Amino acid sequence: MITPVHAAIRSRMEEIRAKGRLRTLRAVNRISPRECEIDGRRLIDFSSNDYMGLSMRPELIAGAVAWTERFGTGSGASRLISGTSAAALELEEKIAAWKGFESALILSSGYAANLGIISALANKGTTIFADKLNHASINTGCLLSQAEFRRYRHSDTGHLRRLISASEAELKLIASDTVFSMDGDVAPLEELRLIATESGAFLFLDDAHGTGVTGKEGKGLATPENCDAELATFSKAVGAFGGCLLSTGEVREYLINTCSPFIFSTAMPPSTLGAVSAAVDLLRSEEMEEARRHLHELSGFARDAVCSLGYECGNSVTMILPVIIGDPLRTVEVSRRLYDAGFLALAVRPPTVPEGTSRLRVSLNAAHTREDVERFIDALATIKKEF
Ligand SMILES: *Cc1c(COP(=O)(O)O)cnc(C)c1O
Repeated sequence: MITPVHAAIRSRMEEIRAKGRLRTLRAVNRISPRECEIDGRRLIDFSSNDYMGLSMRPELIAGAVAWTERFGTGSGASRLISGTSAAALELEEKIAAWKGFESALILSSGYAANLGIISALANKGTTIFADKLNHASINTGCLLSQAEFRRYRHSDTGHLRRLISASEAELKLIASDTVFSMDGDVAPLEELRLIATESGAFLFLDDAHGTGVTGKEGKGLATPENCDAELATFSKAVGAFGGCLLSTGEVREYLINTCSPFIFSTAMPPSTLGAVSAAVDLLRSEEMEEARRHLHELSGFARDAVCSLGYECGNSVTMILPVIIGDPLRTVEVSRRLYDAGFLALAVRPPTVPEGTSRLRVSLNAAHTREDVERFIDALATIKKEF
């Protein structure tokens, strides 16, 4: 039977197609952090967030296997029921020590963690001040919290200051990504800290793209000095999966009691925790320090080369390199031609990015070589000439 809901779905899909925003799934066979295979074609993969190339490391795989053999494939229950093992608590202490925070609380995905943390920290009487380009999970968390939600222009601390000084709310929370996921630029962290201190706001930083890949030992960009709480994900540079809150013991205890996704979702599987544990050891090693230096250098090289082709790259200072093309269909076409040339660099369109800023989101990782990037730049230059 065709219900009115079916009809509405059909018409919404027509709208999505007409706007050039259709998204489709395809099977990608990841061969290594550097290479993947689609429809039998081998491609250099510039699309993953596996920044340190850890997701296929033998150390992480061994960690996942060891914890699976010891604890099984599922955690059995939510964390407050019987889903918290002694090993999981030890891992939280290990993560807190690595990151330099008083406490860590592992949740499920980073997305769910943001939803839960923000909606627990902010309530009806709170006003949230959020960067316009924050990750979707922060925005959804803000909406879910029923707090007043004010968005300031991207990294515009003047705008933030005006909004915050005009606010009469007693409870204020500032939320920002550290590294912006579609632009690769970094939030004005010192200024945010200053504004938060002056206005008595709680500062929440999402360090999804900083964790593991920036800072000494891969600690990331958020610290106990520059924020009140941090979200880290294990899904990106850590090479595994999941979200983690870093803050004080008091905030941790509060979330254990109020964060809905923490309370009502089954604890992370042991395999993931085992992989994360191995990843933390590895990220603190000299080998990874060297890999971070390589990635940083490679990112600078790629950025300069893409800019000198005449593309706009925004204010990227990290391994996330936007190649801004503007028109969504044209962006998809460039991505398709790169695919033909043997590179996977995905087109990102509205509503993920603002209207008129469709782009390739090129993400480099430590497994890429200088030659990979040089060949990519050559391909991009050829495509640009053809247009
Ligand atoms: C990816 C991402 C998340 C979500 O984390 P997952 O672990 O992938 O669910 C949250 N915030 C930012 C900024 C992200 O880029």
